[in-house]
Amino acid sequence: MVDLHLHLDGSLNPGNMSHMAQMSGISLPTTDEKEIKKLLMVEPDCTNLSEYLEKFELPLRVLQTEACLRYAVYELLRDLHDEGLCYAEIRFAPQLHTARGMSQESAVREAIDGLRCGIEDFGVRAQLILCCMRGDKNHSDNLETIRVAERFLGQGVCAVDLAGNEAAYPTESFADIFDEARKRRIPVIIHAGEAAGPDSIRKALELGAVRIGHGIHAIEDEQLMHILRERNIFLEMCYSSNLQTRTVDKAEDYPIRQFIQEGIKVTVNTDNVTVSNTTLRREYHLLQKQFDMTEEALKQIALNGVDATFLPEEDKAVLRERINKEFASWIK
Ligand SMILES: [Zn+2]
Repeated sequence: MVDLHLHLDGSLNPGNMSHMAQMSGISLPTTDEKEIKKLLMVEPDCTNLSEYLEKFELPLRVLQTEACLRYAVYELLRDLHDEGLCYAEIRFAPQLHTARGMSQESAVREAIDGLRCGIEDFGVRAQLILCCMRGDKNHSDNLETIRVAERFLGQGVCAVDLAGNEAAYPTESFADIFDEARKRRIPVIIHAGEAAGPDSIRKALELGAVRIGHGIHAIEDEQLMHILRERNIFLEMCYSSNLQTRTVDKAEDYPIRQFIQEGIKVTVNTDNVTVSNTTLRREYHLLQKQFDMTEEALKQIALNGVDATFLPEEDKAVLRERINKEFASWIK
């Protein structure tokens, strides 16, 4: 089972938070694990992406030291292994970890270190996706993210992404950043069609995105659906998160069945294990229940996930074999 859309800062284990806060010299309002979990989770009355993103403030306050970043990635791999995942692409924005003087390059180096130790100790495979951030004062930070991604590409880093407030900062404003990524042959993913409409997804494709984070609003544009199908663009769907940010109004409006019927390759992911209070297995179960999906259909989604990974073909073959063998027992 693979998770391709998983943010590090939104997936910190609440059980590790006190320790991480201590490592960073930050005091938390409580040491009770249940209370900490509540601080990290999105409120049930969340109405949009911007409110959802507020839940990242505390994790980001903690993740400002080398040791903490390394520890967080390592511990996430432990959690993913415990949940039966065989591969994950973990994303984070190095520019959000520089508040106490750490450089983007150091942040990525430490995250890779945590990744390598986790892979060795837990056997789950993983790579990093580096997020550029939507904003209007961080152009040079985004360029630095691209530079650092090139530096570590194939050595723990597999792609770059664009994350943040899609409604406030339109995709087209980041064209020159992703020109740089393409020039350097770094694979591009973009969060689009989550808090903005189909045009944002079209723009993301123009900027070279080979996968779209969410892409839910593509459902409103028949011609765009055709393009996604023809170009074999994978959608990284994150059901619980998409409901929490009100990407769709009601669960029954979630377009996963229509995408599949139209021949668009969908994948199922968590987005943020802690903020969305979910797990990958839970996401599959929720979709199975809501849309009456067969085990075979769900397995096909897991196999789409393998096709969408940034891994060499021989590694994909190994993952496919494992999913074919283990999916039935994993999904129970
Ligand atoms: Zn995301």
